[in-house]
Amino acid sequence: METLVVKNTVSLRISLTTECQFRCLYCTAGKDHVGDAPAQRLTVEEIVSFVRQVKGRFRIEKIHLTGGEPLLRSDIVELVRRLSRLGIGDIALTTNGERLVDRAEALRDAGLRRLNISLDSLETRMLARITRGGHLERIVAGIERAGALGLRPIKINTVVLRGVNDGELARLAEWSLGHGWVPRFLELMPIGPAKPLHGRLFVPVQEIMERLARTFTLNGPLPEAGLGSTRYYAAASPRAVGRIGFITPVTHPFCAGCNRLRLTEAGDLVSCLACGLGVNVRQWLAPEGKGRPDRFANLLDRVLKTKKGRGLFQTETPMMAVGG
Ligand code: SAM
Ligand code: SF4
Repeated sequence: METLVVKNTVSLRISLTTECQFRCLYCTAGKDHVGDAPAQRLTVEEIVSFVRQVKGRFRIEKIHLTGGEPLLRSDIVELVRRLSRLGIGDIALTTNGERLVDRAEALRDAGLRRLNISLDSLETRMLARITRGGHLERIVAGIERAGALGLRPIKINTVVLRGVNDGELARLAEWSLGHGWVPRFLELMPIGPAKPLHGRLFVPVQEIMERLARTFTLNGPLPEAGLGSTRYYAAASPRAVGRIGFITPVTHPFCAGCNRLRLTEAGDLVSCLACGLGVNVRQWLAPEGKGRPDRFANLLDRVLKTKKGRGLFQTETPMMAVGG
C-alpha cells in the first residue's frame, strides 16, 4: 500500500449499474437481479464530482467503466464526454456488447478509446446458454462496428469454463487476433453464484495455456507497462499472430501493487473486489456534497489502506454488485 501512496497513482473502476439484460451463469444467480433502484444510483454529476476530487489527491492512471451492463444507462455517452473533458485520457469500458452496435459511434465521439467486450463462445447456442440472454450475431456486429470506428485496443474477454467453452479457446484467440483485437482468458473466480460451481468449472491458467499451445507457440510473459492485472504472451499459429492475455486471480492473484479503487453505483467506495462493500461517499459528492477536499482525501487514503495485499476471492458478493 505504501508504494501506491508514494506513487500517488490510482486506477478507478466505476460501476454504473447492477442491472444487466444477461444472467451469465457465473455472475448472477439466474433470476432478475434486484439492485438499487435507479433513484439511488449516482448521477453523472456525482460521478464527475467523485473523479474530480480523486484527481485532486491522486494521479488517475485510468478510469474503467463497468457494471452490471454499463450500456444500459442512457446517460453513458454524457458521462464519457464529461470525464473526457476533465482531462482523463485513458477511459475504458467493459460491456457485454449487446447494445454496442448502436452506441459505439457516440461513445467514440464522446472520447472513449478502449473497449473490453465479454465473449465466452463463438457458438450461438453455447453463448446463449452461458449468458442466458445474449445473441452472438448482435455482439459480433457491435464488436465489428467498434473496430471499424477505430476504437483501440479492443480486448475480447473469455471466462474459461471446464466442459463448457474450454474446447473453443484456440478458435476464439485466432478469431480475435485475425481482426486485430486482443484475446484475453480469465480464470473463473469463486465469487457470488460462481462459488458453488467453481470446483466443477474452474480451469487453471496452466491448463488454459496448455490447450492454446496445441495451436499456438506462446512466448512470455511480455514486459508490460503499468500495474495491470493481465500477463501477455506473444502468440503465433499458422493462421494468426499477436498477443494473448491471461488474467489469473486464482492461481496468481494480482494484488501486489494493485492501485485500484472501485466505486459502486450507489456510491460505495471499495478498495478491493475481495473485500466486500465499503464506505459510502455520496454525501461528499456534488451537487449536494459540501466539497470538503481535505476530508475526502483522508477518506480515500483510509480506504486504500484497507487493501489486504493478497485477495481471497471467496466473497458472496457477485462481480456485478462491485463492478467487474
Ligand atoms: N456486463 C459487462 C461484461 O460482461 O463485460 C461488464 C461487467 S462484468 C461483471 C465484467 C467482467 O467480469 C466480465 O468480463 C465477466 O466475464 C467477468 N466476470 C463476472 N463474474 C466472474 C467470475 N465469477 N469470474 C471471473 N470473471 C467474472
Ligand atoms: Fe451481465 Fe456482465 Fe454479469 Fe454477464 S458478466 S451477467 S453480461 S454483468
